[in-house]
Amino acid sequence: MSVGVIGIQGAVSEHINALKKASFNLKKDIEIIEINCSGIVNSCDAIVLTGGESTTIGRFLKEKGITEEIMGLKGKIPILCTCAGLILASKKSEIESEYLLNLIDVEVNRNHFGRQKNSFEIELDISFLDTPFNSIFIRAPAIVKCGMGVKVLATINNTVVAVEENGVIGLAFHPELTEDCRIHEYFLSKI
Ligand code: GLN
Repeated sequence: MSVGVIGIQGAVSEHINALKKASFNLKKDIEIIEINCSGIVNSCDAIVLTGGESTTIGRFLKEKGITEEIMGLKGKIPILCTCAGLILASKKSEIESEYLLNLIDVEVNRNHFGRQKNSFEIELDISFLDTPFNSIFIRAPAIVKCGMGVKVLATINNTVVAVEENGVIGLAFHPELTEDCRIHEYFLSKI
């Protein structure tokens, strides 16, 4: 099984470490591939869209011809989208529409929780986990509108911060920045 991580920016190595740990816990053998050019995503069994700066990642994916490749994977393989990855995966947000991957039927408010200094950590109840998950929000987005088929996985005071649709998981926070790899386990178990 091969899992592709969009290796442009953000917490790429942290995602790779979390995936390694999760695959060990699940006793699943996976090969992790960093995606920096076109022609790779179609051979992946799952992919991760990392956090970072959504416009920078979006521009890079577009220039390299990876945008259309990822859009073609919708509903076919599990995709984990974190923070900037969620912004890109949405149907509507405040970035250039040509960067939007339209993987999840949601509208995302790009810097919903404010700037870097408004970053925070919270013990979050996530629908598929038995106990709360320590979640780190950095210049985090929030989901302000959900389509009919979208499952809400977590909220903070009624604000939606985690969703799933057809195997695409969108998180406003960074699960790769904690030691807890239960979300990566959940993601890998979908392959
Ligand atoms: N708000 C950032 C953006 O617009 C994303 C922040 C993050 O990925 N930590 O791209």
